Amino acid sequence: MQENTIVTPPAAGSHAHLSGRVLGLANLGLMVLDANGRVVMWNQWLASHSGLSAHRVQGCELFELFPELRGQRLEQAVQSAMQSKLPQQLSPALNRSPFPLYPTGTWGGERVEQAVSVTPFTEGKERFCLIEVSDISTTVGRERQLRGQAEALRAQSYVDGLTGIANRRHFDVALDRELRRAQRNNGQLSLLLMDIDSFKAYNDHFGHQQGDACLTLVAEAFAGMLQRPADLAARYGGEEFAAVLPDTGPEQAALHAEAIRARIAALAITHAPAATRPHVTMSIGVATYDKNTLNDAATMLAAADSCLYAAKHAGRDCVIVHRPTENAA
Ligand code: GH3
Ligand code: MG
Ligand code: MG
Repeated sequence: MQENTIVTPPAAGSHAHLSGRVLGLANLGLMVLDANGRVVMWNQWLASHSGLSAHRVQGCELFELFPELRGQRLEQAVQSAMQSKLPQQLSPALNRSPFPLYPTGTWGGERVEQAVSVTPFTEGKERFCLIEVSDISTTVGRERQLRGQAEALRAQSYVDGLTGIANRRHFDVALDRELRRAQRNNGQLSLLLMDIDSFKAYNDHFGHQQGDACLTLVAEAFAGMLQRPADLAARYGGEEFAAVLPDTGPEQAALHAEAIRARIAALAITHAPAATRPHVTMSIGVATYDKNTLNDAATMLAAADSCLYAAKHAGRDCVIVHRPTENAA
């Protein structure tokens, strides 16, 4: 029955019969067009995925059968294959489903996604062109699924996509872990919160893309200033950065913060005319763990943030350190 779907009559001999069987069994679409673009072969796979039998399409011009293919990449591919005698491939990314082919028995639903290749050949003096159509829906679906999973993994990652330093999530985990360690060991722990000065003006003047490049430069310089393995430099969000400094008291933390501030200023990145300084600078707030007053992440962050706010009000490009005893008084 499957052999009946092959339009070209098999030549004499058992091998021709075998070719017929194979064409009928093939798990991809195989069609042959003559030099006038008429269908001379149409295999069973095409019949069952298009709903058009081989007898129905035999001798018909392909582009009359499927007028929607006219002027499309497939028509060009067939023409150039015939003229240049070179095989052509249709990029599945640009031509997802050129033929109206459907999963068997579901005509009118969603078309199968197709990879199409066009191979010219001559037989005797006549020119033909073989068109192979494979169903790549499963592969494409799997690729999409993998891409989705990769995106989900990135979202769960600990790395900031723009700057490559630790992200907010990593920072939260590190601060929590180091706080518990400080509480257990009655140890010291400091936190820096920093914010680029007048960064809106930078973006407005140089554009968002250069703003991103500036953020990356600042992040790299800042992260390079933290040397101890337990220190963590993170992008807290937007143009704000944060550092977790275990085993570090307020004086040491203030020194670190001042060194970071000076390092960023020394990058001498030209700022927008509207900014308070000619070069890009940062303001920094510092808070240190205290078992009575600053003993959880939210309180420490709020303290560092209010120091950062004070640094902005003090003229920017400076460091302000939270003093638990003074502030608690
Ligand atoms: P201040 O000195 O008071 O901090 O002023 P500012 O302009 O830096 O503060 P504001 O919070 O008003 O503006 C922060 C700007 O940072 C606005 C926003 O467009 C920009 N920004 C935040 N995230 C990104 C980013 O990922 N890329 C770029 N290019 N800009 C960002
Ligand atoms: Mg900000
Ligand atoms: Mg800012």
